[in-house]
Amino acid sequence: MTHLALSFLLSFALAGIPASPVFLHHPSQQRQPGARQGKFDSAKAYSYLVKQTQFGPRDPGSTAHERCLKFLREELGKYADVVVPQAFSYAVPKWKRVQLTNLLASFNTRATNRLFISAHWDTRPWADQDPEKKNWTKPIVGANDGASGVAIILELARQLRQFPPAVGVDLVLFDGEDLGTSGFGGSFSIGAQHFAKNRPPGFNPRFGINIDMVGDRNLEIEREQNSERLAPEIQNLIFSTARRLMLPGFIDSPGNEITDDHLPLNDAGIPTVDLIDFKYPDGSNKYWHTMADTPDKCSAESLGVIGTLLLEIIYTQQ
Ligand SMILES: [Zn+2]
Repeated sequence: MTHLALSFLLSFALAGIPASPVFLHHPSQQRQPGARQGKFDSAKAYSYLVKQTQFGPRDPGSTAHERCLKFLREELGKYADVVVPQAFSYAVPKWKRVQLTNLLASFNTRATNRLFISAHWDTRPWADQDPEKKNWTKPIVGANDGASGVAIILELARQLRQFPPAVGVDLVLFDGEDLGTSGFGGSFSIGAQHFAKNRPPGFNPRFGINIDMVGDRNLEIEREQNSERLAPEIQNLIFSTARRLMLPGFIDSPGNEITDDHLPLNDAGIPTVDLIDFKYPDGSNKYWHTMADTPDKCSAESLGVIGTLLLEIIYTQQ
């Protein structure tokens, strides 16, 4: 999603429905001394982006949303030690009640030193920034705003399976990020709000990185201002790592202040940065929340930059 934030997060009283049973797929693996760290496969990540868009717009309540959830759960299930779905229902103001599901995929479950990486997997039901008024009630396909972050997370999962990390890693896919009304920050991030208030047992990471709109061909990641205030050490870790790896697309200067899924986690006491390129494709941000947010506006290279950064951070944590 996401939008420029001025308002405070509103408190939402969401019905707490217990998570579905835990599905144990693989025993935890210990990292072998001298084991190589994974190398992020940009092309594979891009194929995951395209795959999601082929379901169509994944707005909550749609068949594509349901089918994509099944795909994500199965794909994560191939790689993670454990995949825990967290399902709940939510009545969208002035719209309809929808079923939302967050997914938590954990690696190295015995480790107490943990970090998490998250992204939202839902897409916006309304292209309300589209230049054509007739599109304002149509759902977006969300190649960048939705599929890009998830694509990176799926490829991370594949790498973490092959090259188990020394630290514990939780990959989280949030639902219901983009159901909000502009100007009302608390109406966004419904899945992340629910997750933060109903933390699954054992979810206790030291810090987190949320990725959103990270697939833009013209990648420009700046220091998001809420992250700068709430999680400055993690922000510095990200930018120093990007500099060390000489990654393109990172601009070490103040960016916008964004309301996104990192805020509920920060509220819950877990320092979390939002990695976001809110210039899609440039300062005009003209593809955001429009019918033009399609795979051709994204690139494997951009996914590769973010994926490489995240793998480096994961494998250099002790
Ligand atoms: Zn959005």
